[in-house]
Amino acid sequence: MGHDAIAYIAECNLTPKAKKTIEKILGHSIVYYATWMDEWRAEPGYEHTSAWHTASVDKNLVYAPRPKGDVIFALEDAIAKLQDYKQQDDSTVVMSLRCIIHFVGDMHCPVHVKYADQKSYNVYLNGDKCSYHNVWDDQIISRSHRWGYLEYAHQLDRCTKQQIKTITAGTLRDWFHENARDSRHIYELVGPNEKLDKNETKSFVNHTHEYAERQILRAGYRLAHVLNELFD
Ligand SMILES: [Zn+2]
Repeated sequence: MGHDAIAYIAECNLTPKAKKTIEKILGHSIVYYATWMDEWRAEPGYEHTSAWHTASVDKNLVYAPRPKGDVIFALEDAIAKLQDYKQQDDSTVVMSLRCIIHFVGDMHCPVHVKYADQKSYNVYLNGDKCSYHNVWDDQIISRSHRWGYLEYAHQLDRCTKQQIKTITAGTLRDWFHENARDSRHIYELVGPNEKLDKNETKSFVNHTHEYAERQILRAGYRLAHVLNELFD
């Protein structure tokens, strides 16, 4: 749902020319492909994309490229290929678009930053055991407003032109570093194997969903910005 909301916020902020060109290439809207990279990551021939959904930072919170590739590598590679998309074959253009649509979202998800000194762990939300990764991928959203992607876009996408300009300033790596800095705090909220009862779970969601929504909104505007730069 987070990916659909990001893609739909982006769709609402595409220029008419970029929207038309992209939909002609894809045969669908960008929302249609928002989670494609997640659905296809285990299919034969796509296993190598599995490493592309996250990226690491060093102890100074600076991007540390991984040999097998990561979300920043995948995005920079896809954007580079689409700079002259008219010279590329159709499958390269479609695949690069699917990468951008999904991975701009992933790079804004707090748990998709891999910190050098931070291991992944499980927590218990009101009796349900889940990975803390899943809490930020899914649980906070599904346990707060329970809106669909249209409602998320309708409620969140209310920034002024100037605010959008500020959010979309900088490079892909600047955005990733911002996420790395701002998301560090989430590991102080719940520790490994910590059990939150019903009220503690509610309180946890109360105190975290606005940050998750902020990341969704930023990812949406930035996805539109990347696509408008390439296709307008
Ligand atoms: Zn993903």
